[in-house]
Amino acid sequence: MNKALITGITGQDGSYLTELLLDKGYEVHGLVRRQSSTKRRRLDHLFANPEIYGRRLHLHYADLDDPTTIRRILVAVEPDELYHLAGQSHVGVSFEIPESTCDTTAMGTLRLLEIIRDLPHRPRLLQTSSSEIFGRPESAPQCEATPHRPVTPYGVAKAFATDMVRVYRESFDFFACNAICYNHESPRRGESFVTRKISRGVAAIARGETDHLVLGSLDAQRDWGYAPEYVAGMWRMLQHDTPGDYVLATGRSHSLRDFLEAAFAVVGRDYEAHIQTDPRFVRPAEVHRLVGDPRKAAEHLGWKAETDLEELARIMVQHDLANPSV
Ligand code: GDP
Repeated sequence: MNKALITGITGQDGSYLTELLLDKGYEVHGLVRRQSSTKRRRLDHLFANPEIYGRRLHLHYADLDDPTTIRRILVAVEPDELYHLAGQSHVGVSFEIPESTCDTTAMGTLRLLEIIRDLPHRPRLLQTSSSEIFGRPESAPQCEATPHRPVTPYGVAKAFATDMVRVYRESFDFFACNAICYNHESPRRGESFVTRKISRGVAAIARGETDHLVLGSLDAQRDWGYAPEYVAGMWRMLQHDTPGDYVLATGRSHSLRDFLEAAFAVVGRDYEAHIQTDPRFVRPAEVHRLVGDPRKAAEHLGWKAETDLEELARIMVQHDLANPSV
């Protein structure tokens, strides 16, 4: 049985990846931060299953700033594959807490690489990188060779982690890959990300709980895909004969207004009647022209993003209509 270890197992991607790996017959281990609350709602359905939790799914307490604990767990578990998904993942928040963002995302990745370097049985490593590394690129769409020009603390931290993974691959013969992911969303997306904020807002408006939604800049453009497809791409990278970096993206750019239109259309409303803006949600700097070129992933991995923006908005709004409290 293949063994995988996931950092960030309780996040959106970690929970989808856990389901995918369990389906494929893996034994799955996850690192979780010690918190006073033990609620981990994205994984609750798996914990409730006695055939899975404690048998094929195991959790271990470890923070990314605690390398001795991570080392001990890696030595004990001996995973074949390590998916490094953990880190402070909110770009807006990274302007408020830049130091801890860099500590977990940049230094946390380097610490993990250093631990792996010493292991007698090195796992294959997948690092989730981000389109934020490209910041304000000179060309669009961006591919694996596009220069990194981050414009946010989060982007700088991810650029460091991405380059470091490549350096260890080239210098120490690691089987290590960067999944350079463009925005990927789902009903499990955190509530402060704009797509989920909108899908929850639309559901609340449809239920009559409020009549408006407050956002920042509506001029944003993103390449938005559906998260379960992106974790499948990550898995494919570690099954390939050779390690490398891959862009995972739809290849299509949409404006925030397009997403608003699609989300409000699910409940038969016009977004313009319900949106207010507040400078509190506007960031000190914004990325530009981010749209990915996923051709390498298509050619080498047979991977393709299938879900379009309208379908994504429909999946998210229908979920939030059916689950008011989640
Ligand atoms: P990001 O691409 O990882 O930063 O994903 P987000 O979902 O957080 O933000 C996507 C875009 O939506 C950014 O350009 C934001 O500036 C823009 N945006 C506009 N209003 C909001 C808001 O109220 N919350 C968030 N999170 N983003 C907003």
